[in-house]
This record gives sequence, structure tokens and C-alpha cells, in this order.
Amino acid sequence: MSAIVVIGAGHAAGQTAASLRQENYEGEIVILGDEPHPPYQRPQLSKKYLSGDITLEQVYLRPEKFYGDNNINLRTNSPVTNIDPLSKAVTVGNTETIIYEKLLIATGSRPRKLDLNGSDLKGIYYLRSISDVDLISTAMKSAASVCIVGGGYLGLEVAAIAVTSGLQVTVLETEERILQRVTTAEMSAFYHELHTSRGVKIHTQTACSGFEGEKQVERVLCGDRSFDADLIIIGIGILPNTELAAESGLACENGIVVDDHCLTSDPNIFAAGDCTNHPNPLLGRRLRLESVQNAMDQARTAAANMLGGDISYAAIPWFWSDQYELKLQMVGFSSDGATQVLRGNKSDNAFAVFYLDGGAVVAVDAVNSPREFMVARQLYGRQVDASQLADTQFNLKDLLI
Ligand SMILES: Cc1cc2nc3c(=O)[nH]c(=O)nc-3n(C[C@H](O)[C@H](O)[C@H](O)COP(=O)(O)OP(=O)(O)OC[C@H]3O[C@@H](n4cnc5c(N)ncnc54)[C@H](O)[C@@H]3O)c2cc1C
Repeated sequence: MSAIVVIGAGHAAGQTAASLRQENYEGEIVILGDEPHPPYQRPQLSKKYLSGDITLEQVYLRPEKFYGDNNINLRTNSPVTNIDPLSKAVTVGNTETIIYEKLLIATGSRPRKLDLNGSDLKGIYYLRSISDVDLISTAMKSAASVCIVGGGYLGLEVAAIAVTSGLQVTVLETEERILQRVTTAEMSAFYHELHTSRGVKIHTQTACSGFEGEKQVERVLCGDRSFDADLIIIGIGILPNTELAAESGLACENGIVVDDHCLTSDPNIFAAGDCTNHPNPLLGRRLRLESVQNAMDQARTAAANMLGGDISYAAIPWFWSDQYELKLQMVGFSSDGATQVLRGNKSDNAFAVFYLDGGAVVAVDAVNSPREFMVARQLYGRQVDASQLADTQFNLKDLLI
């Protein structure tokens, strides 16, 4: 019997292999990852791994031993260079061929890069992998100042750690406000104030136009302005890794196109995680998400369906971000809301903003409010009384009865 082969060794890949065994699949499972590590928790890279609060082993999704114990053939440093859907074969490196019965593509995404004058100077980093963080951590130890290009969640998480460890931190953001692509003006203003109160200098409407330095980067150029820094970290979004899929003839459009079963345009090839463009029946539209929840839930769906199941992927997206001592947990998309209801006080750094559309909850941003986050996940789509949401004396769990 030929194998179930998984390309990529990230969240989606690791969960798919584990789910296949949980579903009692006894055949061969091969994971082919191009990195030197077993599947790991990428979110910790800009959080506790960068701050030095957890070790490398704690970043791993499961102990390395798990794969051997479960007869999962995890092959690291094994880049897949070609998929041939006709012969149901993948090429590893230049020559090795592996035949699959079913294939899962979980190639994730990569940082969007800036191609400007000076982009190749030493001291400019992107943050996607363990090796990126190892390099950044070393550089941070001898730096006095860091400039972060991009005021999204990743950049702001790094800013929080860098300023807390004593560096001078500047954040440059092209848009009118930080987090503009992902949240409301009110939440952007809250995080802007939080970071500036901790000493981070934020410059919005400031587009990076190049880099300068002698032996290594010394400043970021933004038109006629410049910002000195010993170290630059760029976080301006990601691109899905779809090239392998596209070259093999699979439908791709802003991600590998899959249906609600995580099936691609080929009946033997599934895809999961950051690399997919998938339908969300609860939201009524197609999405490409960059989130652990999506990678893990799609992996479980794909595993079940690879074994002949008939499971649809239908989940309300949720996300989180840790900055300083604040944990932000988000359900849905605030842009889907027509009105907002604040519960709690922003000045306490513990509050939730509910977003309603036609009186129903469609999203929440919960800062240091895990109960509100948990309830909001279950309230999604339900009609609610806004005054009860706003009343901190009212027990939100009563809305679930
Ligand atoms: C710094 C950082 C912080 C984040 N924080 C959060 C957060 O707080 N909350 C949240 O929900 N999400 C967060 N994310 C996003 C989250 O990590 C991703 O959504 C998740 O990792 C997606 O999992 P995946 O399996 O689809 O892809 P990945 O985890 O990217 O794994 C894909 C793997 O496939 C490999 N690969 C690619 N092409 C090939 C090939 N041809 N052959 C072999 N291997 C290949 C890649 O190198 C990679 O190892 C964060 C991401 C980063 C980088």
C-alpha cells in the first residue's frame, strides 16, 4: 500500500499526521518538511521564544519522540520540488521520488519581501522561522536600537519585546494607523497609545523607500526622512506558498483553491493551512487565513476526508496576539460589524468590544478578557441585547442558555 504524503512540516502537517493516527489509519505517513525542525508553534516565535521565556523544545508542537512512537516518517531538510498528479508522485530534492495514495499540501506562507535600494544589507531581518528568531535574538543582544517596518501584529509583538528588553524601538507604518488591515480605528488607537506609553516611537503614513549603511544597515530611508537603527525587522505581511501546486496544474487563486472538504482540484490532493483559499459557509465567502486555528481545523478535516470521510470545514475564525502583559483574543472579523459595544474599561487594560450586525454578534476583540472571548465564540450569529453586553454586572453566560 502506498503512503499518505504531507508536504510541509508546520502546524497543518503535524496535526494532519496526528489526526490520521487518531482516526485509526494504519498505513504509512510521510511528512516532508524543508526546515531542520519537527512541526513547531510559529506564534511563539514573536512571543515567548523571542523573549527567551521558552526553550526550543517548548516551541515544538509535539515532542520529537511522538513521530517515531506513532510510526510517522517525519523527514526534515526534505524540500519537495515537484508534484506529478498523473503518476501520483512527488520529487524530494533533485531525484528521489515518492508515490502517494493521497497527498496533503501544507506549505504555509513566507514573508513578503521589500526589494528596495539596500535591501540586501546585513542587519535586515524577516521573522518566519526558528532560524530567523535565533539570528534576530543574537543581533538584539548587541544592538541599542531597532526599527520595525510594518505595524501589524507581528511587528508590534516584536516591538513590545524589544522595548521591554531596553532597546530604542521605532515602528514605521505606511498606512494612516497601525493594524489598519486587521482591526478598527478604536483598537488601533488603543494599541498606538499602549506602545507609545511604553516608549515605542510610531510613525504612520511613513513608507520605507530604502536602506543605507556602510558594512551593515544603519538607517531606513522613508522619502526625505531617515530613521537610524542598528537592526531592522520587516513584517509587512505574507505570501502563500502556492508555486508547487500551481506548477502541477492545481487551481490557485490567492492560495490553493480547495472546497469545504479541503480537497483541491485534483481528487487525490488535499491542502490545509495558510496556503489555502477556502470557502467558509458560516461567513458566506471564501477566505485565505493566516491562523493556527485555521491550520489545525483544516488539518483535522483533511485527515478525515483523506480516509473517505465526508466532513465539511465550517469554523468561525479566531486569533490572538500577545503584547506586553496584554492578551488580545479575537473572534470573527470586526469589519463585519455595523455597530460596536464596549464591555469594561479600556483604561483597565481589560475589556471586550463586541461587533454586531443586525443585532447579532459577528466579532469580538477581547483584551485580557478570556471569559468574554469564550462566550463570544458561542454567541457568534446570535441576536443579543446590546445593553446586557455592555453591563459588566450581567453574566454573559446567561445569554447562552
Ligand atoms: C512570528 C509569527 C507569529 C504568529 N502569531 C500568530 C498568532 O498569534 N496567532 C495565530 O493564530 N497565528 C499566528 N501566526 C500564523 C501561524 O503561525 C500560521 O497561520 C500557521 O503557522 C500556519 O500553519 P501552516 O501549517 O499552514 O504553515 P507553516 O506553519 O508556515 O508551515 C509550512 C511549512 O512548510 C514548509 N514548506 C514550504 N514549501 C515546502 C516544500 N516545497 N517542501 C517541503 N516543505 C515546504 C515551510 O518551510 C514550513 O515549514 C504567526 C506567524 C508568525 C510567523
